[in-house]
Amino acid sequence: MPVANRPFIPFARPTIDETMVSAVSDTLRSLWITSGPQVQAFEKALSVMHGDRPARVFTSATAALEVALLTIGVGPGDEVIMPAQTFFSCANAIRHTGATPVFVDVDPVTRNMDLTLARSAITPKTKVLMPTHFAGYPLDMDKLYALARETGLRVIEDAALAIGSKWQDKLIGSIGDIVSFSFHPNKNITTIEGGALIFSSEAEAKLSEAYRFHGISRLPDGTRDITVLGGKYNLPDVNARLGILQLQRLDEFIAKRHVLVEHYFDRLTGSNLTLPVRGDKGHSWNFFAPLLPLDEMSISRKALMDLLQQKGIGTGISYEAIHLTSLYRQLGYSEGDFPHAEKIGHNTLTLPLFPTLQIEEVDYVCDTLLELIHQHKR
Ligand SMILES: *Cc1c(COP(=O)(O)O)cnc(C)c1O
Repeated sequence: MPVANRPFIPFARPTIDETMVSAVSDTLRSLWITSGPQVQAFEKALSVMHGDRPARVFTSATAALEVALLTIGVGPGDEVIMPAQTFFSCANAIRHTGATPVFVDVDPVTRNMDLTLARSAITPKTKVLMPTHFAGYPLDMDKLYALARETGLRVIEDAALAIGSKWQDKLIGSIGDIVSFSFHPNKNITTIEGGALIFSSEAEAKLSEAYRFHGISRLPDGTRDITVLGGKYNLPDVNARLGILQLQRLDEFIAKRHVLVEHYFDRLTGSNLTLPVRGDKGHSWNFFAPLLPLDEMSISRKALMDLLQQKGIGTGISYEAIHLTSLYRQLGYSEGDFPHAEKIGHNTLTLPLFPTLQIEEVDYVCDTLLELIHQHKR
């Protein structure tokens, strides 16, 4: 067993270079620190990158999702269809608008929302399809938008993990309806906390500004009016300045992720782990999460994660099935409703993956993981 006399390897880590540190310092020194010129410049850069579609930034992707829903008029009595295997904030954002999340199972291979199941979950109350590009693996956009066109539903793509991902050579965000990105430190680029929406309509982008800032709009006489019930979700300039520089390194970050993931595949193919679907160059690989062979193991996932932690390796769970959380069971969901989401939620283990991870560290993670699984065979 390799020894752990090495720096701890977390499962995710942002890349912050000295240029970013000094640019953020400059923004602080400018004394214009909340939303201002840097936010405008970051939005411009995001827009240019995504085919000149309107872009707006927010304090998080969670806030962005909620604003997107409010902007298109989702509220009490409406239903929003989303996968049972994604981050909790999607469901919470829907609930905060007064609407109801309707969960559907995911495809066991891609772990993306099963669009056939989504179609059968549509009712007269359904307003929106809200799928996630799981781990950065792009959903089938042709099928998604064919369903949306046929049913007249709006789409909000949760691309929290997928900035830089491509569907058939087109960047996620450059096509489609409304697309949401996250800039949390674990994502492909970071603004510390932050998120963005890319819109298909300039009018909706404009309206989202009101939802992002107290519902305020400016009147010709210089006074302010409140037109909608907005919140306080504006991104500070300090964060936006970081975002501008992060965006410039996105392609390089994703290229590093590809190299590391190739090595994971080389090392783990043929083991008793179920590896994620490989995808093509369009996959941005925000995380790498095989399924553990728990049936063949004498210890639990938690025990394995603790042993890995002792060996200096951080791991995560992406994600627990949402419908089995206490809050969402109250909507009437229970075990057995979504077998694929439940299997993934139960067996998934997120391994270290970030641009500055070393190949040699991937080897150490694989050696340690395979050894521990072997040692604890049932
Ligand atoms: C991280 C994440 C979010 C939320 O992003 P925040 O910026 O942290 O609010 C939403 N969906 C998915 C799939 C995520 O991984």
